[in-house]
Amino acid sequence: MKIGILSTNKNLYSTRRLVEAGVERGHEMPVINHKRCYMNITSHNPSIHIKGEAITGIDAIIPRIGASISFYGTSVVRQFEMMGVYSVNESVAITRSRDKLRAVQLLSRRGIGLPVTGFANSPDDTEDLLQFVGGAPVVIKLLEGTQGVGVVLAETKSAAESVIEAFSGLKANFMVQEFIKEAGGSDIRCLVVGDKVVAAMKRQGREGEFRSNLHRGGSAKLIKITPEERSTAVRSAKVMGLNVAGVDLLRSNHGPVVMEVNSSPGLEGIENATDRDVASMIIEFIEKNAKQGKTRTRGTG
Ligand code: ADP
Repeated sequence: MKIGILSTNKNLYSTRRLVEAGVERGHEMPVINHKRCYMNITSHNPSIHIKGEAITGIDAIIPRIGASISFYGTSVVRQFEMMGVYSVNESVAITRSRDKLRAVQLLSRRGIGLPVTGFANSPDDTEDLLQFVGGAPVVIKLLEGTQGVGVVLAETKSAAESVIEAFSGLKANFMVQEFIKEAGGSDIRCLVVGDKVVAAMKRQGREGEFRSNLHRGGSAKLIKITPEERSTAVRSAKVMGLNVAGVDLLRSNHGPVVMEVNSSPGLEGIENATDRDVASMIIEFIEKNAKQGKTRTRGTG
């Protein structure tokens, strides 16, 4: 097969590993820089071009779209879909999971465990919002943040009020969440491919840090997850409509709660921590499932 990887940098670990795994399994693996793609949106004949040439003959794509170019990246994925090319994660599913609020709203409808979360527009509603989530300490998150940036722990009511006032003043969208203290600064990343968790790792924030992001100096190690955690991760990916997903869970007193469902999960941390060949599993999934025109709008809204 000819499997295109949408990536802005062919030297990134995840991109390199996917190319390597695909080539090993006998596929052609072009890396397509979605930032450089441009599109001709014509009735019955949609096409994608790069440096003066039309991209043709692609059987499937693996989108690796960074958060900073979600809009353009997903429009390129959608254009491939319009051309009948199979995308392992479809554009609508990527868009759903990119919006933290939309994601938790969709997950809540399906009864997936979540930290209690409040969202409001007016600072007049702060009092009620804090009450929803059980009062301070609370976590306040910018909807647009990634890698732990814009995720704040407010230990007291007055700290929470100040942060909310500051975010509101900047016209930033944020949500307020119950603080899962018992997670102890660690979370669990479950790598889902199809309907299986193929690898799981525990990430621990550095001393004194409640955020476990590896980019913030956290460390990772292999972990055995419970059947409940496994099914929560698989169901979360399904609700989003993602075939490949990194589902982040916290261990709370009321069972596993989902933080985030990531549509372009990094492979470096998880492959190193678990010694699993996740890249090959993604390629195998494509071999079994890719069909011309098979990408449809799935998931739940
Ligand atoms: P990002 O997408 O920027 O990584 P997350 O929502 O995943 O943001 O939050 C970053 C980290 O902060 C999480 O991995 C987790 O360790 C910690 N965290 C986030 N929300 C909570 C919460 N409600 N309770 C406890 N810890 C949290």
